[in-house]
Amino acid sequence: MALAEVSELKSPVKTWVPSKKQLLIGGKWVDAKNGKTFDVENPATGDIVAQVADGKKEDIDAAVKAARKAFESGPWKDMSASERGKLVWKIGDAILKYGDELAELESLDNGKPLAVARAADVALSADIFHYMAGWATKIKGDTFEISTDHFYTPGQKYFSYTLKEPVGVVGQIIPWNFPLLMAAWKLAPVLATGNTVVLKPAEQTPLSALRLAEIIQEVGLPDGVLNVVTGDGEGAGAPLAAHDGVDKVAFTGSTEVGKMIVQAAAGNLKKVTLELGGKSPNVVYKDVADIKATAAGAASAIFFNHGQCCCAGSRLYIEKPIFDDVVSEVSNIAKGMKVAPGLTSPDMGPLVSKEQFEKVQGYIKSGLDDGAKCAVGGGTVGDKGYFVEPTVLTNTNDKMKVIKEEIFGPVVAAEPFDDHEEIMSRSNNSDYGLAAAVWTSDVQKAIRTAEAFRAGTVWVNCYNIFDAALPFGGYKQSGWGREMGSEILEAYTQVKSVVIAK
Ligand code: ADP
Repeated sequence: MALAEVSELKSPVKTWVPSKKQLLIGGKWVDAKNGKTFDVENPATGDIVAQVADGKKEDIDAAVKAARKAFESGPWKDMSASERGKLVWKIGDAILKYGDELAELESLDNGKPLAVARAADVALSADIFHYMAGWATKIKGDTFEISTDHFYTPGQKYFSYTLKEPVGVVGQIIPWNFPLLMAAWKLAPVLATGNTVVLKPAEQTPLSALRLAEIIQEVGLPDGVLNVVTGDGEGAGAPLAAHDGVDKVAFTGSTEVGKMIVQAAAGNLKKVTLELGGKSPNVVYKDVADIKATAAGAASAIFFNHGQCCCAGSRLYIEKPIFDDVVSEVSNIAKGMKVAPGLTSPDMGPLVSKEQFEKVQGYIKSGLDDGAKCAVGGGTVGDKGYFVEPTVLTNTNDKMKVIKEEIFGPVVAAEPFDDHEEIMSRSNNSDYGLAAAVWTSDVQKAIRTAEAFRAGTVWVNCYNIFDAALPFGGYKQSGWGREMGSEILEAYTQVKSVVIAK
């Protein structure tokens, strides 16, 4: 199929996008060894906008080899922590410098509104590099006094200390919902801690990661420290997760694939961190100070990024006396949302792919078949692209698929509740535990609710507030380990104990 015109884009992205995109291996841009490419779509139109190298196992092998070489020899290995930190900082600066271009690419490839891509994806991506840059010089071990008198060396004294060393070659597999930001969340800590990496972007949205890799090269990261292999999950992701030359795999994506990653990692017992799905409860008590503001928060909790967030507030629990008011406010907001291509300043763009478009419609249908009602939405928008209306379901119950399973689309189910104990038990009745929120003007209730949620992040009277310093990750089947903050440093370092006879 011929490449579509990307006339809506500004130069230089316009000229950059249609050219054939290669793999970055050992500092060189190369074709996939089998010479094949796959098509990248604009989800607003269904047009093919780029062709990207279709990496497979043999390309993963080459990338892992390059990453190993860069880890064990050459400038990266000998670089001081301070120099490494400066490089990581400069990547943050470069992301801001190329921010408009990266935002356009993200909007084109993923479908999200351009303004959101600029203000959220680009800004937070720069933030994590700037934040992690500071940690490069602060990774440190401890010293210990050995107090045991060892029977085989009586009277001998010892001095001991620990070293925090990089894990080695890291495989990173990222999703399509925040393509640039997920690359940034993964790459910033791995570089700050002195590892090398093979990154596999999602096949639906590889463009911003490829552009980021070019930008990182321009900043001056030594060859082989960052390698990027595009390809699909089975062809490129699975061999990376299973590779014996990889010391650690970090994955963000579905819980289903997360379980496959764990199995694939078992071969060489590589370390694993996972940031997986969610079905986050968003609890609104009747004592909220402002119903309109709360409803706006609840709407943004689900409709931000078209509901394609692992922490989307997809179960909206509202205390009975204000149920109708909140549902009607959220529905009015949904009704007023402009749903259009991301590059035309909408409130919501298209879903990322035909597959996702059909999956979300399937969930809406399953809810309606089970007896749910649409307070608003339920349909699609336009006759091309993958646009789904922002949708509010009522009349659901906790046994329905739309309450139990992650939809990953702009669909919220609103249910009434009677009291705190009941709603905490229903909120926690999920295999997931990524995020949760509570809206109340009673501070004690807020504290008790935050304690009772079995979730890795709890928002009180707000939603989707992230910071590079704040750990993010899941309880239960929402994952292993945390992204961001100082917590992530543990995932990319290992401890060595050294004992010296005095
Ligand atoms: P989604 O279902 O939302 O597309 P996935 O979990 O399937 O999310 O995808 C997230 C990332 O995992 C993507 O980069 C995808 O290519 C990759 N992936 C999918 N299947 C596998 C697999 N079996 N092994 C490794 N990576 C995979």
